[in-house]
Amino acid sequence: MINTHRILVSRFPLALTAIVLLLTALPATAAKPPVVCENVLLISLDGLRPQDLFTGADETLLNRDAGGVRDVQGTRDAFWRDSPEERRQAMMPWFWKTIATEGVVFGDTSAGSIVRVTNGHKFSYPGYNEILTGASDPRVDSNAKRPNENVTVLEWLHRKSGFDGRVAAFCSWDVFPYIINTERSGIPVNAGWQPLTETLDTPALREADAIAAEIPHYWDNVRYDYFTFQGAHNWLKEKQPRVLYVAFGETDDWAHSGRYDLYLDAARRTDEYIRQLWETAQSLPQYRGKTALVITTDHGRGDTREEWKSHGSSIAGSEFMWIAVMGPGIASGPPEPGTVTQSQVAATVAKLLGYDYRAEFPEAGEPLPVWRGEE
Ligand SMILES: [Zn+2]
Repeated sequence: MINTHRILVSRFPLALTAIVLLLTALPATAAKPPVVCENVLLISLDGLRPQDLFTGADETLLNRDAGGVRDVQGTRDAFWRDSPEERRQAMMPWFWKTIATEGVVFGDTSAGSIVRVTNGHKFSYPGYNEILTGASDPRVDSNAKRPNENVTVLEWLHRKSGFDGRVAAFCSWDVFPYIINTERSGIPVNAGWQPLTETLDTPALREADAIAAEIPHYWDNVRYDYFTFQGAHNWLKEKQPRVLYVAFGETDDWAHSGRYDLYLDAARRTDEYIRQLWETAQSLPQYRGKTALVITTDHGRGDTREEWKSHGSSIAGSEFMWIAVMGPGIASGPPEPGTVTQSQVAATVAKLLGYDYRAEFPEAGEPLPVWRGEE
């Protein structure tokens, strides 16, 4: 007994000293592993130009002939301000108040931050394929409803334990069930004018479907973002997915229709939808303090009085886009000058959840430099 006691007494200080020495011997610069989030909200606004996101309403388009604006004075009152900072705040108040201060926004070329698509097409299916798979694919060269042969990061996560049945997508454009390949991936994708109650039956969504059935469908392949928001918001509350992708579409379609006033309105409404999704998430224990938000776009648009309406390989400047990331462990403030690409979103989403996407898909772009202490 006495012997054992002596040994314990004499060994404990030794062991402690060894631990202390070991700890102090570690280099002070050793990187801590990044914070792992439990959930990711991935959101896209189709074809929202970085010019408008960073500097707000474009004065050359706040008129009838170039911008198709019907009520010029009313639109100016709503969106025109003296400084770019005030203008962008008028267009997307929540984004600029919250994400820009608590997260990182890439793509402000005036500050040397450039984001570009790597696919040469600069239109939607190739862009969403690049966002969701992490690489451009020369076979993806049209917007046709073809099931994607590539596995998206959504499907890759969906196959992991803890994610089965906990990944979903609500999308305004009706091609998304093919882009996400819902048949193969098993991920519920509610898109286009598809009734929301086909995916989730709640009183609110029954009412939304009844309204959708009564109003004009200005575009037959893109529903109004309000319905996409309603579907996503209800799914978030009822099902609490770990990965929710919400793809808004109106910004692109109002621009194609040559209506800069309605394009600005759509951006502002979408900002409010994102605020509500985020605040609902933060009110639920499943999400509070353990959820990241990634927001981006599929392509930019032209930069002239005519070409702002369009995008594509022949429209100069439509390769420029933007990406925003916010969440636990993510840095805040403007990023370092430099170029990042659309192909970096997929690996970023995976890394936010603690996974190395590139270990399996080495052709994917690397995660964005957004982690605090790692930038
Ligand atoms: Zn378009």
